[in-house]
Amino acid sequence: MKKVYLDFAATTFVSSEVLNEMLPCFNTIYGNTSSLHGFGRDASAIVDRARDRVASAINAKNSNEIYFTSGGCEANTMAIKGIAHSYASKGKHIITSKIEHQSVLEACEALKTEGYEITYLPVDENGIVSVPSLLREIRKDTILVSIMAVNNEVGTIQNLKTIAKLAHEKGVLFHTDAVQALGAIKIDVQDMEIDALSISAHKIYGPKGCGALYLKNGIKIEPLISGGNQERGKRGGTLNTPAIAGFGKAVEIAVRDMFVNQQKLKAIRHYFLEKVKENIDYIKINGDPHQKINGTVSISFEMVEGESLLMLLDLEGVAVSTSSACTSNVLKPSHVLKAMGIEDEIAQGTIRFSFGKSTSKEDIDYAVEKLAGAVKKLRAISPITKAGRR
Ligand SMILES: *Cc1c(COP(=O)(O)O)cnc(C)c1O
Repeated sequence: MKKVYLDFAATTFVSSEVLNEMLPCFNTIYGNTSSLHGFGRDASAIVDRARDRVASAINAKNSNEIYFTSGGCEANTMAIKGIAHSYASKGKHIITSKIEHQSVLEACEALKTEGYEITYLPVDENGIVSVPSLLREIRKDTILVSIMAVNNEVGTIQNLKTIAKLAHEKGVLFHTDAVQALGAIKIDVQDMEIDALSISAHKIYGPKGCGALYLKNGIKIEPLISGGNQERGKRGGTLNTPAIAGFGKAVEIAVRDMFVNQQKLKAIRHYFLEKVKENIDYIKINGDPHQKINGTVSISFEMVEGESLLMLLDLEGVAVSTSSACTSNVLKPSHVLKAMGIEDEIAQGTIRFSFGKSTSKEDIDYAVEKLAGAVKKLRAISPITKAGRR
């Protein structure tokens, strides 16, 4: 059976360039970066190079503004809880949005139990965070604004620069979850006035379990994990040298090849959407028609249950996602689609298709053929269809 992976927003394969960068770190350059001897220094040199690569890819002023973590979730948690705890004497109010990744939402919910107040900004029907509502909600005791750069379910791009500027005019720090943005849009932390930014390796052809938090020099942060003196005392634990080496390479490649990759993804996206529209009716394409990345497409299929569609496609070897992978074993409408005002019934029939470097037109041909068949099958047995909607 043919296998087609259209779930690159959930994770990617590790590219061969990245793998080659990692391999020597397993059994040749295996020292502990904290060791004072030559083996340790060799490992440190690998980590230093990766740190430089990540810093330069996002135009950080200094490499020491990069802290390696176990991934995007940890970087988000570290930024939100760490900043909240360090700036509690200034205030206990945090502003974020209703469409953030679970790791941001849950860090905020946890802070509530410590007496922090959280404001969740609304989004419009395209999933764009309302800037006027941000202005209204900033208070004297607001310490942090955290808004994601690109949404993982619908692919919308937020107005980061405007949001950061507004936050700074009021003396508030700005963090962004840029996990889905790296390699898709240009990120320049200095130009965009970003104080803290989270990224992850496995969304950009790097290994799983590795990511980073960029934290502008001068900003205080309380560590989540203590124990070692690694990462300048901000994150304890022996550094995962192979993963960090691979991450550095992956970030470098993502930025180096961004234009070419995006051109290719744009063509694939166009080809996919034309084919879907040609073969399937009663659909709604979610997200902003202009402010969106090329690799992610969210489509609601009326009179279809998303989980069933996912399973039928899986039987044909086509891998897609109903919403974000972290929540796909929980049957509840996506918080992102809900925030966009999409009614539950339509939201339940929503599938995320995400494309990557290896996606071909043949993949799309096969996937859309199976998709059209599966939608037809499900609509034939749908109670909503029988109720006379069509
Ligand atoms: C995948 C993802 C994360 C989590 O990153 P991990 O490295 O898997 O912890 C955070 N935010 C967004 C937007 C993501 O897509």
